Parts: sequence; C-alpha cells; structure tokens
Amino acid sequence: MSKKVLVLTEVKDGKLRNVSLEALTVANQVAAGGEVIAALFSPNAEAYVQDISKYGANTLYVTKTQALSTGTTEAYSQAFTQLIHEVQPDVVLVGHTSLGKDISPRVAAKCRAGLISDCTAVETNGEQITFVRPIYAGKAFQKKNFQEGMVFATLRPNNFEIIETAVQTAIVDFQPEITDLRTIIKEVVRKTASGIDLSEAKIIVAGGRGVKSAEGFQPLQELAQALGGAVGASRGACDADYCDYSLQIGQTGKVVTPDLYIACGISGAIQHLAGMSNSKIIVAINKDPEAPIFQIADYGIVGDLFEVVPLLTEELKKVLVS
Ligand SMILES: Cc1cc2nc3c(=O)[nH]c(=O)nc-3n(C[C@H](O)[C@H](O)[C@H](O)COP(=O)(O)OP(=O)(O)OC[C@H]3O[C@@H](n4cnc5c(N)ncnc54)[C@H](O)[C@@H]3O)c2cc1C
Repeated sequence: MSKKVLVLTEVKDGKLRNVSLEALTVANQVAAGGEVIAALFSPNAEAYVQDISKYGANTLYVTKTQALSTGTTEAYSQAFTQLIHEVQPDVVLVGHTSLGKDISPRVAAKCRAGLISDCTAVETNGEQITFVRPIYAGKAFQKKNFQEGMVFATLRPNNFEIIETAVQTAIVDFQPEITDLRTIIKEVVRKTASGIDLSEAKIIVAGGRGVKSAEGFQPLQELAQALGGAVGASRGACDADYCDYSLQIGQTGKVVTPDLYIACGISGAIQHLAGMSNSKIIVAINKDPEAPIFQIADYGIVGDLFEVVPLLTEELKKVLVS
C-alpha cells in the first residue's frame, strides 16, 4: 500500500546534507508510489528547492521562522512536531545527525510514536517496513518494525544509495508557532576548520597513539587531502592531546561508514571498532603484526606509518593526477 512519507532535510555549510538525500531516496522506496514530503527549516530554503526536487520530494514545507535562528533544538522540535500534526504522515525519516539524534526522541514522544534510531538498512515488503540497526557496538544487527502507529526512524549517514528521481515539487510555506524557548544559542564556535563532515566523509584517514604527537598528524592530513577525505582519530590520540576530541571515532566518539577507512597507528580496541568496523574497505597501517586492527582490515601494511603514509601519498598523487 502506498504511504505518505515525511523527511526532515538539513543544510550544512550551504549544502543539503548527503544523509538528507539518502533519506529522500529511502522515502521514495517506502512510499511505494505514495507521497514524499520534505521539510526544510532554513532562512534561504528556496535555494535548495531544485536539489530537493531532483530526489523525488512531491511537496516541500519550508519554514523561515526567525525563532529557528536561535539555533536551539527546542525550536526545531516544536516546529517539526507541529508539521507532523499538520501533515499526518505514515512514516517519518530523519538523518542520524546531531540535530536528528537530538530532536527525534522528543518529537516522537510528543507524537506518541515509537522511534527506531541509527538504522543502516531499510527493507520493504508490501505493507511491512523493516529497519536494520547495529547493536552491541556493531557486532550484531537487529531487525525491527512497527506493529501499529506512525513509523519514525533515524538513518545513519553513508549507508544508503542516493538515487535521483526528478519530480515537480510543490512548495508550502509553513509557519509554526514557537513559544516558551528556555534556551537561546547566541554563538556557535566551530572547533574544526575542515570542510568535510567526518560522519559523511567517503574517505577517512585516522590516526592513533602511534602518530606520537600533534605534528605526527601532518602526513595523515596530506594523505587525506590527496584523496579528498577527512582526518579522524582514536581516543588514544585525543587523550594524548595529539588532536581535538571532535575527531574521535568509536563507541564514545563518532560512528562512521566511509567507503575507505585508513587506520594509521591504531591498535584496534573494541571501542574504536564500534565506530568504524562497518566501513566498506579498511586499510590498517601498524608496525605490530599482531595488532587486532588487522583482524578486521581488508588490506594490512605492517610498517612504520611515518615511512608508509608519505610513500602512499606520493604514489597516490601520481595515480590521481594521471
Ligand atoms: C568506555 C570506553 C569508551 C571508549 N571509547 C573509545 C572510542 O570511542 N574510540 C576509541 O578509539 N577508543 C575508545 N576507548 C579507548 C580504547 O579502549 C583504546 O584505549 C584506544 O582506542 C586506543 O587508541 P590507539 O589504538 O590509538 O592506541 P594504542 O592502543 O596505544 O595503539 C597504538 C598503536 O600504534 C601502533 N604504532 C606505534 N607506533 C607506530 C608507528 N610508528 N607506525 C605504525 N604503527 C605504530 C602500535 O603498534 C599500536 O598498535 C574507550 C575506552 C573505554 C573504556
């Protein structure tokens, strides 16, 4: 049966987030010929209409309400809850981003819906939609579906194919009533200058305690730059003050699913694997042949990262230029 699916899309650094396009693609699959509705809370929402149309949204609700510029997720929660009440969707999909993780539980609760979070796959079988999500730090997968009521799920970035489905998109100006905000964000100070969001990066070069210093990250940065990727780190490297905690990948850091993950001087502790073991291809560079990271690596290089990484960068630059 066809369904009405609502997707909360997000803009970051002047671009629609990839996970929003992934969610729109999933929405088209689960809608099964029904209606796909996108929501965008942005002061210059019109700039993204063309992109949203390309990925199959029949309707786009835009909200430019000034209160949303306070940046608090409280305002977003109020706006999204009101939109859900207005649209009455069968399915709600949100990216498992900082915003999505923050607002989804409270919006779902306000709408008296359940929530399946951090899904890495969605299967549809006529009536039933089954969500797949990792559990036990990625060691097992759980399949869940809703018996009744509105279906509400968050999708982990980089796990779904993005498919273009051009349609005509009708634009609806939505004016939510934002009241009684208890907090207002006055300033956002970004710690990292990198343009690539770690959780959406297709290629990650990550360093561990084996990089030995903050300067030790330089060859990793050069490799990441040559590949158009982002730099990440183990908690070991963050704890040793070699880099900022915003780069930490793992159980208590970011969970990433890039196409290529290059682990340099990382031993492969279970808590680190929890954040990266679902990467499509894993390359490990470690001078200890017994390091546990080699057990999950697709390709392993036993050697000193300070010799291997610059060599790799040099050779890759030749291949990528030609
Ligand atoms: C509750 C909890 C949560 C945690 N959450 C996280 C998390 O989110 N993310 C995370 O990463 N960790 C997490 N940890 C910490 C985790 O247990 C490990 O301590 C940490 O991952 C180790 O980091 P590392 O691999 O960089 O360092 P180490 O284990 O010290 O490994 C360094 C590696 O570098 C290699 N090496 C050294 N020099 C070189 C060289 N020149 N060239 C090549 N290789 C070299 C060594 O052989 C070694 O394998 C958590 C721990 C706990 C208890």
